[in-house]
Amino acid sequence: MTQHTASEQRTGILVVGGGEAGLALATQLRTFGYREAVTIVGAETYLPYQRPPLSKGFLKGTEDEESLQLRAAEFFAERDIEVRTGRRVGELGLCMNGGGGVATLDDGSLVSYSGLALATGATARPLPGVPPGLGGVHTLRGMGDAIALRDALDGSPEVVVIGGGFIGLEVAATARSRGASVTVVETMSRLLQRLCAPPLSEHCLEFHRDAGIEVLLDTSVAGLQASDGAVTGVELGDGRILPASLVVVGIGAVPDIALAQSAGLHCQRGVVVDAAGRTSRPGVVAMGDCTVQQHPHREDTLLGIESVHNAVEQGKAAACALLGLDPPDPVTPWFWSDQGDLKIQMVGISDGYDDHVVRRAGDRLTVLYFRQGRLIAAEVANNPRDFMLVRRALDKGHGIDRARAKDVTVSLKELIQEPSGRG
Ligand SMILES: Cc1cc2nc3c(=O)[nH]c(=O)nc-3n(C[C@H](O)[C@H](O)[C@H](O)COP(=O)(O)OP(=O)(O)OC[C@H]3O[C@@H](n4cnc5c(N)ncnc54)[C@H](O)[C@@H]3O)c2cc1C
Repeated sequence: MTQHTASEQRTGILVVGGGEAGLALATQLRTFGYREAVTIVGAETYLPYQRPPLSKGFLKGTEDEESLQLRAAEFFAERDIEVRTGRRVGELGLCMNGGGGVATLDDGSLVSYSGLALATGATARPLPGVPPGLGGVHTLRGMGDAIALRDALDGSPEVVVIGGGFIGLEVAATARSRGASVTVVETMSRLLQRLCAPPLSEHCLEFHRDAGIEVLLDTSVAGLQASDGAVTGVELGDGRILPASLVVVGIGAVPDIALAQSAGLHCQRGVVVDAAGRTSRPGVVAMGDCTVQQHPHREDTLLGIESVHNAVEQGKAAACALLGLDPPDPVTPWFWSDQGDLKIQMVGISDGYDDHVVRRAGDRLTVLYFRQGRLIAAEVANNPRDFMLVRRALDKGHGIDRARAKDVTVSLKELIQEPSGRG
């Protein structure tokens, strides 16, 4: 890390990373009337775009690059936000005091700044032991990955998806809808094991098997088989070989913290931030998938929340922090995942629950989570109404009548309790 003195030239705020979080912060700065320079430097060659459709409509062919764009070029021009795409910040020179300094980009150019926002996101976790560049093996994080995967799906009748998490299952559902034969290999005993409770896992399993996807649980991957530089099969831990012309590795994402670490910021799995996105260094904020924050139910645990909602809300809060304004009131985090016709929505943080109630009616499922009698979260499948009710209840601090919640003949709306019965 290069040290600079506080007397060096200052411009405005440098945002590293042009995803949802970086865009939210830059926009919010202008909304608050910030007049100095705002520069977003993003390693990808696109203006900020939505990632969620990459595994859904984009892969299916119903959406394209243009429809994914979050804001047109005019939006940035009108707000005097400079966006430098296709450029990576390689080094951060920070002043001894405060968040100002000079950043060096990969083309050698320098950007000086008085405040710094890190929104570097995450990188798809690669499958260990696979030689880089092996044909037919894909991960999915950015537009470039999605274009390559979309094209590969055109001629790949046998697809193996490694990992039964959200992205793996979304890709599996899309590939299946495009006529591929799809197998999902999951090492855990249920789908989405780290992300939701058993009832939703079972619901997903049933849905995907009904759609004709083969799902192998409790199954490890020993390695990939290849011929002429391209994958031909997946070798399982029990010695079986699954023939595969296309393998999608969906085993999670790793927060991009190299830059933050090189600048001496406190990092664990991600950059450690408080509720306003402040890092361990004054004048430097971080937000989105590159961060971890305090768990709402466990003081000693840090939590990474990989969702659009979290990226946007953290971006807004971090803008307040940079301008010395009070942060907005915290809102309940939420997330969605569309897996073909299966629409999953989650609200609140269920991790740390001590009790849950399952409400099932046809293909609709709602799981309510409680901690010490207090409603803390919900997961729903094909039930947007329940999702909205719980989201509103959690935002307002209302509760749900736990004793009657199992009775699906009583609507959830009738069970909302004001004020909440907080324990
Ligand atoms: C395929 C897919 C499907 C998803 N589906 C959903 C969904 O259905 N619902 C949901 O809520 N969330 C979903 N997500 C998650 C959601 O998209 C992310 O949580 C969100 O986009 C994170 O935004 P971010 O700005 O923190 O990071 P990112 O969007 O990852 O942006 C970070 C940017 O920083 C750039 N960068 C990194 N280092 C540097 C550097 N040194 N210099 C310059 N630039 C740098 C990266 O190239 C990247 O462009 C999905 C994600 C993926 C990949």
